[in-house]
Formats: sequence, C-alpha cells, structure tokens
Amino acid sequence: MYYLIYNYKNKINLNKFLNKTIKIILYYTICLSCKNLLPILKDGYCKFCYYKNFYIGIYHPTKCIAHLNKENKNLIKEKEIELKDHIVYISYTSNFKIGITSKDNILNRLMDQGAVIAILLAKTPNRYLAGYIEYICKKLLSDRTNYRKIFIRTNIKKKSILSIKNKVSTYIINNFIKYSKYLYACNIIYKFKYPILKYINKALLLRYKNKKIIYNKLIGIKGQYLIFYDNTIVNFRNLIGHVMDLYIY
Ligand SMILES: [Zn+2]
Repeated sequence: MYYLIYNYKNKINLNKFLNKTIKIILYYTICLSCKNLLPILKDGYCKFCYYKNFYIGIYHPTKCIAHLNKENKNLIKEKEIELKDHIVYISYTSNFKIGITSKDNILNRLMDQGAVIAILLAKTPNRYLAGYIEYICKKLLSDRTNYRKIFIRTNIKKKSILSIKNKVSTYIINNFIKYSKYLYACNIIYKFKYPILKYINKALLLRYKNKKIIYNKLIGIKGQYLIFYDNTIVNFRNLIGHVMDLYIY
C-alpha cells in the first residue's frame, strides 16, 4: 500500500486512486525545515537547509569519517547516521544493481527504488565499510537505476539473483579477503509487488516545475513514481514540500 502524507501527519491510501483520473494543482513550495516559502532543492528542503544538513558522506559513503572520530560538519549527528549496522544489497530495479543503506531502512530503500527482487550481500557495523564494499563491487555491478526502464514488466527468477550474489561473494573472497567476514550468509530473497494495472516500455518523465497542473488517469505506482495512462510518469517524492490540491474523479 502507498500512503500520501499530507499536512505533516494525515495520510491517504494512494492505491485507491488507481484507474481513476486525478488532478494535481501545484501552488508553491514550503521548506519542511525552516518553513519558509522557498524553492525546494531536495527531499523537501530549501537550498540553505539542505546544505546545512548535507555532508559528503551522504552521497559518497567511502568519504565517511565518523568511524575515525572525525567530523565533516557535526560529529554527533554524523555518528548517529554512520555508526550503526549497514547493509550492502543486490537488487533488480531496471537492472541488477548494488546499493547500501542502514539496516533499519532496508525495506523502505528497496521499495523507494522500485526493486522487484533483492538479496542481502553484506552487513557491516558502519556506513564507511558498507560503502567500501559497494565500491569494490562496482566492477561487477552498477549502482545506478535507469528510471525509464523500471516500468517494464519483468520476471526475475530467485536463482538469478542468488547466482549473482555467489559470483560477487566469490570475487570479494578472492580479491578482498579482509572484507569477506562481512558477507551475509543468509540467503533470504525479498520480492516486491507494486500496484500497476499496465506496464509501459517507454516512460516519459513529467517535469512538473514547468507544469503546474497534472491531470491524468493513474494506472500504477512504483518506487517513487506515479504512472499515468499516456505513459507519462511523475516522481512524486520530488513533490515533497509542494503545496497542492489533489482531486480524484
Ligand atoms: Zn529551509
């Protein structure tokens, strides 16, 4: 089930909008942090608030330094983010990919990306180590998703992802033995289903910054995206911080 959180606390079940025409009118944006009416840079934050909280370890885990007791901007906060169990996972989104996230966020992360199947490769005690394992595995697997391809119907078999995990694990054991102790022995495979009435082969992303009204029939929701009848998609997560009216017909 997908829920839309509005006014900070209320929620609507978005699955109920499937097969219905919806209209979204975008008015203006409010930064979730400072509450000023400013353009949103990312994740609902204005430029100022985003860069106040942003530090390089967020996007480049191999540059994390809290495990060395060193700070980028705020050691207490960075320790909270970095010094906890992290997972290196292999998933299929538009392709097989590798990624990392904190252990307590794994299911959210996978669904947010639109993963259809996933397996855990390694578990580490901090973000830096997970980032390093991801980095050495990039030789075998991409860390990127091609959003245009995540709406194509796929049927990935469990044994395919298992054999990729075995291949990557062997690579780590043979080349980076020091990191092999973090490999995750458990082979539980996670499968995800999304509410989609019709898959599409060629998705067209709507840039809503120039499009103040979205009026279309909703035929699916996957990852961060709403999928419409005419093969257009909207990254709904990027609308965080927008003040809007939402109508269902
Ligand atoms: Zn702000």
